[in-house]
Amino acid sequence: MSGNITLTMIKPDAVKNNYIGAILAKINEAGFKIKAMKYTKLSVEQAREFYAVHKDRPFYNDLVEFMTSGPIVAAILEKENAVEDFRKLIGATNPADAEEGTIRKLYAESMQNNAVHGSDSDENANIEANFHFSKTERF
Ligand code: ATP
Ligand code: MG
Repeated sequence: MSGNITLTMIKPDAVKNNYIGAILAKINEAGFKIKAMKYTKLSVEQAREFYAVHKDRPFYNDLVEFMTSGPIVAAILEKENAVEDFRKLIGATNPADAEEGTIRKLYAESMQNNAVHGSDSDENANIEANFHFSKTERF
């Protein structure tokens, strides 16, 4: 059965480029409800933990540096089939490969500075939601 939440982060590039409003509008238009949201900045330790699955990849240190370079918006989004539908809405990791109309096609700068994060499984959606939010921060 597919789950109904996913975790997103509007990454430092999109915050810097003033795309928070445009990206949230896309998210709402696509039928996602916001269950939790915060404007925050990841510490190096938090970013290393969040992307620990990539710790042996050549881009890991740069990714951690980028993700801690400025504030982000983290949010739990709710919708039927949330993980898969949100990944469709954001498009491919590399914006050059992302479909027209997707968030990354519209707002990303590069493969690394790709505007948004989206969970890749229901299991990770729950882990990532718990990483950013307590129970009392969810509505
Ligand atoms: P995310 O997990 O942020 O939603 P994704 O699932 O599309 O992105 P992953 O493979 O999980 O892609 O990579 C995590 C992030 O690491 C990417 O979103 C991007 O910011 C960065 N990244 C991935 N591959 C590369 C690469 N080859 N070069 C530079 N940065 C990369
Ligand atoms: Mg990923």
